[in-house]
Amino acid sequence: MSSVYNVLCMMCGRSSGQLRGGRFYQAPGAPMPIREHGRNRCGFCSGNLYLEPDDSGIAPYTIADSLAQRRAS
Ligand SMILES: [Zn+2]
Repeated sequence: MSSVYNVLCMMCGRSSGQLRGGRFYQAPGAPMPIREHGRNRCGFCSGNLYLEPDDSGIAPYTIADSLAQRRAS
């Protein structure tokens, strides 16, 4: 069972970090998500964040970043 989630933005597609075992790990170079009205928003663009289950195990941030870039282009 996966307990690793990529924290991605619906607006800009960038990764803010990962959730591992209920703990948030900030991605290198990414701003902290903005806490607003009890919800977390993207630190880049204030877009809505969503969690994408990562079934590949502990993935390095570079994988999440390349996924985000592919989605954006
Ligand atoms: Zn964003």
